[in-house]
Amino acid sequence: MVEFHLSARDAEDAVRQSLEHFGVQRIALASSFGAEDQVLTDMLARVNPAARVFTLDTGRQFQETHDTMQRSVERYQIRYEVCFPEPADVAELISKDGPNLFYYSVENRKACCDVRKMKPLRKELATVDAWICGLRRDQSVTRTEVELVSWDAEFGIYKICPLFDWSEQQVWDYIKQHNVPYNPLHDQGFPSIGCAPCTRAVAPGEDIRGGRWWWESPEHKECGLHRSPTHRNLHPSESTAGSTGAPLQPGTPAKEKA
Ligand code: SF4
Repeated sequence: MVEFHLSARDAEDAVRQSLEHFGVQRIALASSFGAEDQVLTDMLARVNPAARVFTLDTGRQFQETHDTMQRSVERYQIRYEVCFPEPADVAELISKDGPNLFYYSVENRKACCDVRKMKPLRKELATVDAWICGLRRDQSVTRTEVELVSWDAEFGIYKICPLFDWSEQQVWDYIKQHNVPYNPLHDQGFPSIGCAPCTRAVAPGEDIRGGRWWWESPEHKECGLHRSPTHRNLHPSESTAGSTGAPLQPGTPAKEKA
């Protein structure tokens, strides 16, 4: 592993230095078209319009997310790398447990995230030496240890989070200042936006990620893309994943087991 350290003046400088260090073909921004990702897309387009940006199309996203991608394509002239799940994997998942399997147990939810997100992500990240993410420390209890640069043992590459110490206010100040296109759901009480069936609006003052997998405990609210802490792999015996509970009735998601 080659050591990589960053001493950046600000987030845009961190993006610039990272691109220079790894080379434009060996680093990519992961975007789900959330506010932070849009800030980073804007920075990336300024620094080097040829920079790689990829997105995971899970097949279950909001129309507003697709609209945001459309506006971003037009604004930045970016050729997004769109990563789809394997059709056979999705078919097997749904045939076995139904289209809304994620409500029945944490195990089911993680299986769905694995097919629709993790497998395509692993394939994409095999093509780079570093990825750029929009994680911020104050987003949730699972992200308090986010660093500017860390070794992502899960994927064997560097992880760079230029906004790691930004506040939510800084994100929105940047968006307004630079007229960055953003997902209109943010104006409807959705601070964090994932797949439609697994995301809902939150009340003012509620945890930023409170609307993601709202039926689960806060410490479990990651889909595997971003483990905590980011610099080491958890041994299976240390895993925070919950166990499978008895199936619930559709539409009545419940708390996962501890
Ligand atoms: S967020 Fe929900 S719908 Fe999307 S991949 Fe995960 S479990 Fe499936």
